[in-house]
Amino acid sequence: MNRPHGVLIYGPPASGKDTVTRALSALDPTFGLFSRVKVGPGRSAGYRMGTPELLAELRATAGEVVYENSRYDSTYVTDRPGLVAAFEAGVPVMHLGQVDGVRAVLDGYPADWLTVLLWCPRELTAERSVGRGDTDTAARLAAWDATQADLEANAGFRFDLVVRTDTASPEQAAERIRQALSARERRLLMLDFDDTLIDRRAAVTAWIFGYGATYGLSPDVARRILDAIRIRADLQTFEGLCAELALPESADRMWARYNAEFPATVRVFPGVPDALEAIRADGWQVVVVTNGGSEIQRAKLKASGIDGLVDGVCISEEAGARKPDLSIFETAAARVGRSLARGGWMVGDNAALDVVGGRAAGLRTVWVSHGRTWPGGAEPDYIALDVLDALGHVRGGAR
Ligand SMILES: [Mg+2]
Repeated sequence: MNRPHGVLIYGPPASGKDTVTRALSALDPTFGLFSRVKVGPGRSAGYRMGTPELLAELRATAGEVVYENSRYDSTYVTDRPGLVAAFEAGVPVMHLGQVDGVRAVLDGYPADWLTVLLWCPRELTAERSVGRGDTDTAARLAAWDATQADLEANAGFRFDLVVRTDTASPEQAAERIRQALSARERRLLMLDFDDTLIDRRAAVTAWIFGYGATYGLSPDVARRILDAIRIRADLQTFEGLCAELALPESADRMWARYNAEFPATVRVFPGVPDALEAIRADGWQVVVVTNGGSEIQRAKLKASGIDGLVDGVCISEEAGARKPDLSIFETAAARVGRSLARGGWMVGDNAALDVVGGRAAGLRTVWVSHGRTWPGGAEPDYIALDVLDALGHVRGGAR
């Protein structure tokens, strides 16, 4: 499970904390300004206004106050319940005016925080303050001096990212923050299972011809069964086949036999375990997203060893949705503590389920062709001959 991401922005007055945060939200709406609790008179915009009773309550429970500071006759609190809610809603962006505050949040609230120093020269603070009609420019400049003194007093503290807003636009600053965050984030890869990671087609063929040999089925009948269960194997499929063909066993019996025998026969395509290990070591988070019944898919994942080689698995019966529905991709991302908002890749052999579905979920896509020609429609980002080719492309490409 990934630790949640958050952004701590520190900077002198008029360095652009608000405008850069707005630009971040415009770039990706999961970024949202964290509003502190304020107890005291005056401006309420941008704060969650609290009462002295609430403040006393927070202070009474250890760990509920992550950081607190007072200015004039107001108290500002970074509170744990507020942070929990902010992380549930997305990526909180917190503004802090003291390095001590940055340290307190880093120490007091476990998350993958990106610390950002937004810097602008004193003259620019003066110019911006006058330009936006502040009546307290002298106080802003005093705060600029205090910020510089605070930085000098904490010279050992290293911010993850420093952006000078006298040279970078708010949009450029926001983009650099987003990039810095994504550079440290494990990238997301979703993989189809059947005929992408495992050679289901070969296993199904071997199983049905073995069954046919045991029960003396004609090759035509065996082929007809193969054609049906190659697309989808479930009880309904076997019921349809029993109604259509004279078969030696009931649908229930055949389905039970298939469940019992088939999973142990599946094999991964050559090189898949090493390729999965390598891409995960490279910083990718891998989740299998597959249509099918829970019991048989779990048995196949176990028998093939794939369950131990990925970070998560999402099976349609458990997710309550099948590819290409958006919700199964959302569930798959959530299985590894992610959302689809920051993108990722979907790799699979089925054009309609994996490529069309993946694209609609905002993912980049690779179609595993096994030598087939693309059937038409909006093309995937890459057409791979097999899954090793696909993983090589994903590893080499941008996120
Ligand atoms: Mg497939």
